Amino acid sequence: MSTRRCECGYAASDALDLQDHLQESFTPLDGTAPDGSVHDEGTEPGRCLCGFGGSSADALDQHFRTVFTPRNHIGLDGRRHAASPARPA
Ligand SMILES: [Zn+2]
Ligand SMILES: [Zn+2]
Repeated sequence: MSTRRCECGYAASDALDLQDHLQESFTPLDGTAPDGSVHDEGTEPGRCLCGFGGSSADALDQHFRTVFTPRNHIGLDGRRHAASPARPA
């Protein structure tokens, strides 16, 4: 198994860790997506403010990754974050 890496250089311990890293890199504090819509966990557990109702926490996380990941994959820190295919060192 090869280490999963982000293009920013972040080395994740596993796929889930990498997904968490990507989500953190793209999710703005105010929950505003690139298209201007707002997504955050609402008062109802497992449901996004936009009305998306995840059947599980994973589904909601997947939703956040989908709406917050910009087309150019440039994160809040100005760096590009994307799962990098394993490359020979
Ligand atoms: Zn949403
Ligand atoms: Zn990264």
